[in-house]
Amino acid sequence: MKQYDYLVVGSGLYGAVFAHEAHLKGKKCLVLEKRDHLGGNIYCQNRDGINIHYYGGHIFHTSNKIVWDYVNQFVEFNNYVNSPIANYKGELYNLPFNMNTFHQMWGVITPQEAYDKISEQRDVIKNEPQNLEEQAISLVGTDIYEKLIKGYTEKQWGRPCTELPAFIIKRLPVRYIYDNNYFNDRYQGVPIGGYNVLIDNLLEGIEVKMECDFNANQEEWKAFADKIIYTGAIDEYFDYKFGELEYRGLRFEIEKHDVENYQGVAAVNYTDRETPYTRIIEHKHFEFGKQPVSYITKEYPADWHRGEEAYYPVNNTKNHDLYEKYVELAKAETNIIFGGRLGEYKYYDMDKVIASALDLVAKEL
Ligand code: UDP
Repeated sequence: MKQYDYLVVGSGLYGAVFAHEAHLKGKKCLVLEKRDHLGGNIYCQNRDGINIHYYGGHIFHTSNKIVWDYVNQFVEFNNYVNSPIANYKGELYNLPFNMNTFHQMWGVITPQEAYDKISEQRDVIKNEPQNLEEQAISLVGTDIYEKLIKGYTEKQWGRPCTELPAFIIKRLPVRYIYDNNYFNDRYQGVPIGGYNVLIDNLLEGIEVKMECDFNANQEEWKAFADKIIYTGAIDEYFDYKFGELEYRGLRFEIEKHDVENYQGVAAVNYTDRETPYTRIIEHKHFEFGKQPVSYITKEYPADWHRGEEAYYPVNNTKNHDLYEKYVELAKAETNIIFGGRLGEYKYYDMDKVIASALDLVAKEL
């Protein structure tokens, strides 16, 4: 008999949901966290009463009622609706691409006028789009591609749009109605009091060890539990045996400003190529804050190096094939399950991570 039923490596959403459900079912769990705080990338840091989304803005959105009801057990969500602004060299546009954007871009007023304008521009793409550039032009035409997509995307991913997969841009809605809601989902909001409330309530009553790196002492930690739920990077677990999976990194610069309202909206995307950051987040707007000061984060895309926080998996054939090799190794391991954004090398939204953890719960517990 080992000391714990489950050792959960990582206290992000995947690990916290699994640990919560296992604990409910009477399983003894230990959660290990490498960083000095819980919650992975949804961690918030409170300064002057403002919850700073420490690893970049996180807006919860889902069409999955089971997931929405699930998170609402732990924290109440407010009615924040994400409506970012794009700033292209001082010209402002509403996002996502909708009638407001089309009016701002071309002065068109009716959906038919917008549709005709886009049709005329998308004619350059004759066949099925093969990459992000072709996909974007075929969705919204060349003007929007040049001003609102190309620079932002190339900064974010560090490579030309012609070398990126089309699916990345499919995340963005295109609408022929006047509607600035960034997401198409049925449910949306930000936890009142920040994401730490959600994580703390999920992990209530569960033993947690912070600043503990599982990979530094794998064998020692494994001796503690019958089974491991591992949410770290899959290649790191195997000591990069076949080489590194690539990620995009991010660098966040937090600034305090002595103003009540810095930019008038939570998110402004800088879509030109020259501005080195992709967006500025003004955190207080996520919770309609009225404090006399404000905190903003400038988000700089960066190359990723081993040992740094990994953000976006780089989805191309090379990484996909490498990931599959690690999956083969993982199958040969006993008593360990790989899950979450890093464990599955997936560009996962929060609701999808929770759904995936609940799937595991259904299978495992
Ligand atoms: N995107 C863009 N212009 C924008 C916002 C997004 O071209 O102003 C594209 C870009 O290719 C990006 C993708 O949409 O990689 C997804 O962006 P989103 O901001 O939704 O990603 P997040 O970082 O929030 O996951």
